[in-house]
Amino acid sequence: MLVACLVGCAVVDPETEPGARLPAADAAEMAAVLDAAPSVPEPDAGLPVDPVAIELFPAIEFDEGRAQIAFDVPVGMRSVTLSADGPPGSLLVFEQIEDGAGQAWVSARPGPIDDADRAALPFPGPFLSPNRVVWGDGVATALVPNNPDVMPAPGRWHAELVADPPPPGTADVYVQLESGPVPVEGRLDLHFHFTEVSRWTAAEAAMDDEFRRMLNGAAVLLREVDVEIGAVTFTDVPVGTYSVSVQEELPRLLALSTHRTGLSVFIVGRIEDALGGPLAGIAGAVPTSSGLPGTGANGIAIARAFGDGRAMGATLSHEIGHALGLFHTVEANPAYGDQLDDTPAGEDSRENVMYPTGGQEARRFSPQQGTIMRRGRAVDGL
Ligand SMILES: [Zn+2]
Repeated sequence: MLVACLVGCAVVDPETEPGARLPAADAAEMAAVLDAAPSVPEPDAGLPVDPVAIELFPAIEFDEGRAQIAFDVPVGMRSVTLSADGPPGSLLVFEQIEDGAGQAWVSARPGPIDDADRAALPFPGPFLSPNRVVWGDGVATALVPNNPDVMPAPGRWHAELVADPPPPGTADVYVQLESGPVPVEGRLDLHFHFTEVSRWTAAEAAMDDEFRRMLNGAAVLLREVDVEIGAVTFTDVPVGTYSVSVQEELPRLLALSTHRTGLSVFIVGRIEDALGGPLAGIAGAVPTSSGLPGTGANGIAIARAFGDGRAMGATLSHEIGHALGLFHTVEANPAYGDQLDDTPAGEDSRENVMYPTGGQEARRFSPQQGTIMRRGRAVDGL
């Protein structure tokens, strides 16, 4: 189902073994990943964040489901990330984002929108805009720019947040600015959170073969596009629910992260989409609200119920892609591809990590996908 998957999921493909032909786990390489990233519980929790980099608009109110913000973007920003954290029960989306030159990179009417688009997409304008953004239940995020055709100008930016239906409460909106050029090589910290049903614990996961296979699978794919896994931390969270629903439990779970760096990863038993169907993994948003502890889109969740460590490595890679701003190469509705010209189209993209279902093909990220992943908030330059 397109709507559910647009939030950033990996659909379980029961006919294939996801990630069966990922590069084989290399013990020495795995050791290097873990040795380079000693396990220190929550090393960054509570550290101050550069106040210039984050601007908060607390408790903004909606007028007939709409709220506007304006903020300054200095020269030399590599990315602007917007995150809205609001009450559940309303779909939130940034429907308008205008740069300092008055160019709308996201708008309600970016071009022709037909009945099929309106039927398939709750907010067709933002999805079909030059800088695609998607909606979420109680959360909305946007990474600008998120493809090579978007070249926003500095200056005074304006954004409009839309909520449908108009919510009874307010939303917090965060603007995160990353300065400087996109790093040629990036580092992504991963903060693993183990629920009580994950069958892994903070004390033992690093020595577990399946866990190492999962982490190595992601490390190999990311390294090909110059993203190294940096610090890896482990935390047990007191959540005993086996099955996590995307709408109900997921935002509460992701809000448990206290981390201000990298990406938080929650290992759960099972993940259910809006219709109760199983998902191999899910991202809180595209991109996630990384660096904003306590918000409902601050991370990804991976189900332990499906596949072994290698299959979970493929899922972890896919959800990291969503978390760092990547969309599917093709949606369930094949009319919609991504906005990148170096990924194959449609079914030909089965070998890309961001193809929406698991498969037996060896997977890889494209160079443009790598650039987007290194552009956002969660990845630091080496
Ligand atoms: Zn996905």
